Amino acid sequence: MTLSSPTQPCRWCGRAFPKTSGPGRPRLFCAPACRQRDYISRLRAQEAGLAESELVITRRELEELRDKLFVLECAIEDARRDLGDGGEAREALEWVIDAAMPLLGVPLGEGAT
Ligand SMILES: [Zn+2]
Repeated sequence: MTLSSPTQPCRWCGRAFPKTSGPGRPRLFCAPACRQRDYISRLRAQEAGLAESELVITRRELEELRDKLFVLECAIEDARRDLGDGGEAREALEWVIDAAMPLLGVPLGEGAT
């Protein structure tokens, strides 16, 4: 990734993708699959009478997300304690990154079909 290629978050999955320039409508999604999921999600929301900002996700998806957030929370606490004890910053950062990685591109609302 170079400085000349700014990124933006995908409106569906949140993954960063290169910003498009030039004529035409700007892209909102990183992939056609994400555009499709967003579209289906809107349809379902309409059917269920949900507001645009509401999303139906399964209990399993929510629990998996909570588990991953819990792991990240623990890693942050560990890292903070290690740094407070004068531990290696690099090690602490790697620990936090490892815990944060599973949260990248977590699909939400895909199991709620
Ligand atoms: Zn996406």
